[in-house]
Amino acid sequence: MKASIYYEKGDIRYEEISVPEIGDGEILMEMEACGLCGTDIHKAQDGTVKGPVVLGHEAVGKIVKKGKNTDRFNIGDRIITAIHVPCFTCHYCNKGQYTLCGQFKNTNIEPGGFAEYIRIPEEHVKHLVHIVPDGVSVEEATLAEPVACCIHGLKAADIQTGDSVMVMGAGQIGSIHGQLAKLKGADKVIITDISEFKLRKAKELGVEYTVNVLNENLGERVNEITRGKGLDIIIIAAGNFSLLAEAVSLLGRGGKIIVFSPFDKDNMVEIDAGRFFRDEISIIGTYSVTPYDFPEAMDIIEKKKINIKDMITHTFPLEKLKEAIELAADPGNESLKIIITA
Ligand SMILES: [Zn+2]
Ligand SMILES: [Zn+2]
Repeated sequence: MKASIYYEKGDIRYEEISVPEIGDGEILMEMEACGLCGTDIHKAQDGTVKGPVVLGHEAVGKIVKKGKNTDRFNIGDRIITAIHVPCFTCHYCNKGQYTLCGQFKNTNIEPGGFAEYIRIPEEHVKHLVHIVPDGVSVEEATLAEPVACCIHGLKAADIQTGDSVMVMGAGQIGSIHGQLAKLKGADKVIITDISEFKLRKAKELGVEYTVNVLNENLGERVNEITRGKGLDIIIIAAGNFSLLAEAVSLLGRGGKIIVFSPFDKDNMVEIDAGRFFRDEISIIGTYSVTPYDFPEAMDIIEKKKINIKDMITHTFPLEKLKEAIELAADPGNESLKIIITA
């Protein structure tokens, strides 16, 4: 079979590798589409993983082979799977903090999403595989994973009816957060970016207020939009860690900041520490997705509660993964969600 293999920055090869063998409880999926995630782009462009490795974790496809004890599924079923499974028994799992589980990051699909065939291990089959509903295209179904990640983040935000929410960053994750915030009852939703294209796109997807921070004063705009009340929730969905300091200064009393970006270990910011006691603000980090966030994501996509279809700006065939990543990494590019198809 063919796979697009990442070796190092700028070196992705479309190569022949062997089809994975499956055992009892396992499934072999023929990949039909796999979303290109911001983290794939980050890994490939910043060289944060060691090659050779097959990236991709938003894969959708058909079951072509299954082992014993997989009666819940049939050959030909179209499925989606997440890639990390918690153990359900450790200290963190017992507290419901599944993404902190020691097993979580050590579990994966083989060889990765950007391959023609993918082995789905037994633990994944048990807990993470979902049937794609009829009426949802394979391309749209790939968005279940990022939507579920955003749902996981928004659980921590606990948006209340009438809240003012600001999403910093109008990329693929920010534009999902913006739409979900509205769905969860937010009154005002503001999204910021430096790309006119992404802001225009966010507006098209139903996010009411857009601010281009290159040429507009964000503080003034927030004041004007919230009528001086300030922001109840700020979601950071862009890779610039200095946004955290800005978010603390823009947050309203009693507000929450959700940090949804993979900042690096030594990223330091200065914030007004007095705001925690004085204004009861909080800063919450969220990472990845738990098995319990998927059903809601599938429901939202199936019932078209948010606009997934118009988020997809490009599709590339598997052999063009390198070009897809280069496009997404180009600062002035006009892309939002890119899907790789087999
Ligand atoms: Zn992802
Ligand atoms: Zn665990």
